[in-house]
Amino acid sequence: MISLGIEGTAHTFGIGIIDDKGRILGDAKSSFFPPKGIHPREAAEHHAEVATKLLTDALSKAHVGLEDIDIVSFSQGPGLPPCLRVVATFARALSLKLGKPLVGVNHCIAHIDIAKLLTKAKDPIILYVSGGNSQIIGFAGGKYRVFGETLDIAIGNAIDKFARECDLGFPGGPVIEKLAKEGKYIELPYTVKGMDFSFSGIVTDVVRRHKAGAKIEDLAFSFQEHAFAMLVEATERALSHTEKDEALVTGGVAANKRFNEMISIMCKERGAKYFACPMEYAGDNGVMIAWSGMMRYKKGMALKLEESGIRPKWRVDD
Ligand code: AMP
Ligand code: MG
Repeated sequence: MISLGIEGTAHTFGIGIIDDKGRILGDAKSSFFPPKGIHPREAAEHHAEVATKLLTDALSKAHVGLEDIDIVSFSQGPGLPPCLRVVATFARALSLKLGKPLVGVNHCIAHIDIAKLLTKAKDPIILYVSGGNSQIIGFAGGKYRVFGETLDIAIGNAIDKFARECDLGFPGGPVIEKLAKEGKYIELPYTVKGMDFSFSGIVTDVVRRHKAGAKIEDLAFSFQEHAFAMLVEATERALSHTEKDEALVTGGVAANKRFNEMISIMCKERGAKYFACPMEYAGDNGVMIAWSGMMRYKKGMALKLEESGIRPKWRVDD
């Protein structure tokens, strides 16, 4: 059985193709990164423009035709409404044209599903850190639950905001990581409340210090040390409460080496296994939607057309 997945919740539009053994057959994507940050309507226009070309690319990479597709999966939410609408419309059209089932996928669970497939983690605490999301998630009592999450903006968004306000371009992650290598430690706001955390205070603080003439390398280094430590602290607490012994990291921020180092040290100290989703599939992509859709389909969760409306605020724990 072959599932085609369509992703497009935010910057990235992607088409992925996978079979029911978890073999990735094709993958094509295009990201929209305007220098001044994302505008939902512009991103949606980008998605609409690239959709058919990416569909053709993914099919040709997979050496399959549209007639070989058994399931049409799409990211139904959460995400930016104009972007989700493009995805849903494209998915409905394909499903109707091919006469194949339509499956709506939760974008966050798709990140988890593909990471579990590729790392072979069994029952991990997941730290999902991307441009739009920062959550600590685990499976408990028959469903995914959110153990901790940001109280304001996502870690990736915080990094990008810091970079943008200091004229370092977009996306900020790789630039901040490079600058951090040359920096020294300064004490910054550190906000963990229970198992939740917050990043807007630390962003305001580093931007203020930058304007007052602080060295950008020191700010980059100290920002990483504080923000990542907040995430690691809450993750450790989730491991401890749930008595799970695997931690899995995914999302674009998982590309950061220092971040990986800090989590692996924490895991080592408490005897937990550490898994990182391969970077190629840690950011938004169509393959994860295809795979999550395959699993939902097998559980009888295909949608009727009238159930295929977008779900911009769809939570993992819904
Ligand atoms: P995603 O939303 O999963 O596509 O991830 C995009 C986010 O990852 C953006 O906010 C980037 O700034 C961030 N990112 C990418 N590379 C790095 C890095 N090396 N360190 C920290 N953040 C990063
Ligand atoms: Mg994502």
